Amino acid sequence: MNWISDIESCGVHDDWIHRLDVLLTSSQSISSSLDDIVDSLRNGEHLTFDQGLRLWNHTNLSEVAHLANMCKVARYGNHVFFNSNLHVNQTNICTLACKFCAFRRGPKAKDAYALDADEFVHRIIPFEHIIDELHTVGGLHPDWDVTYYEHLFSSLKLRFPHIHIKSLSAVEIKHIAEVSGISPRALLSRLMRAGLDSLPGGGAEILDDDVRNVICYGKEGSDEYISIHRDAHSIGMPTNCTMLFGTIETPTQRISHLCRLRELQNETQGFQCFVPYPYLPDNSRLPEAQLASANEVLRVISVSRLMLDNIPHIKAYRMNIGDWLSEIALHHGADDFDGTVGHEEIMHEAGSNAILGYSKSELIKFIHDSNGIPVQRNSIYTKFNRFDDDDHYESTIVLPLLSEAGD
Ligand code: SF4
Repeated sequence: MNWISDIESCGVHDDWIHRLDVLLTSSQSISSSLDDIVDSLRNGEHLTFDQGLRLWNHTNLSEVAHLANMCKVARYGNHVFFNSNLHVNQTNICTLACKFCAFRRGPKAKDAYALDADEFVHRIIPFEHIIDELHTVGGLHPDWDVTYYEHLFSSLKLRFPHIHIKSLSAVEIKHIAEVSGISPRALLSRLMRAGLDSLPGGGAEILDDDVRNVICYGKEGSDEYISIHRDAHSIGMPTNCTMLFGTIETPTQRISHLCRLRELQNETQGFQCFVPYPYLPDNSRLPEAQLASANEVLRVISVSRLMLDNIPHIKAYRMNIGDWLSEIALHHGADDFDGTVGHEEIMHEAGSNAILGYSKSELIKFIHDSNGIPVQRNSIYTKFNRFDDDDHYESTIVLPLLSEAGD
């Protein structure tokens, strides 16, 4: 079954607040200490900062998860979204050295790389008939200005007009704008004309400058992250947003991060999906990181769903938290299982073991196994294709691994 949505509602049921009210009326009882939170949810009101913190400290995680799951079910029923995508990084050379980053290399490192447009196109060719989204971020290359990226995106669009280009995190936008001597907004407009369709949410980390000065000194500040996403939204470019947790931040800073994203969303309605993920410690330089247990990952996802009532989708980012925890996260407020992901480097360099190159049928099986109804979406959540049990879907295509694709 196929259907469409508009870019702001992203497939959310129009009457989700009414549905939530009905679900909460008929659902299990919740501790009375959360009564005011349940009332706010039923009335469609934002939860306050203090309520968010209380959810964070509520010892019974299953109650928090239950509320988050109700919020998800009210929006989407049992639908679970996924897409068919590929991650390619244009360069791992970076002028910064964020302490949590296992991906960046100095320009003289023997495994440093910087792809030109032809090399980049060559990497997509083996996947061109099985993906509809390209996710591409990279390091801050000291020499590449707007002309490199214009050429890259226009070359990709010329060769693969059907593939959505989701590319460049906020810090890359800041850096390229500075190298090019133009404003971030002017840069975004030029790149949009060249073929850039949307921004991923990377680089938000924790929107608190005290934390940022320790874990990613020199990166864009909290206000700059918000400002760049505001600029993108102002020219009609949708974006995602993220949160990296489990480094040195406090629960208060996490809740404050969610409130900042929610505030911008009230203003622009340009965020489509929130992607929370824990710090992975391999090959990085942050021994003081607190790390995050599975329980904490699920709590972050649950509280995010409850706090971010104006951001349509919450992703279980399986590249980071793995398939099994992602399946469980689908019962803690997450509704999006990410994608087939033909290739990924950033999380894998940091220790992820997530399987790459799933076929669509493998992803659908995971979703069915978690009692979800798989729905393939496009990148901006405006086109949907549901796979019911008795549907005959493509079961034989297996994505090639990038190393097998030749370069
Ligand atoms: S996170 Fe991004 S900006 Fe920071 S060092 Fe890694 S590649 Fe560079």
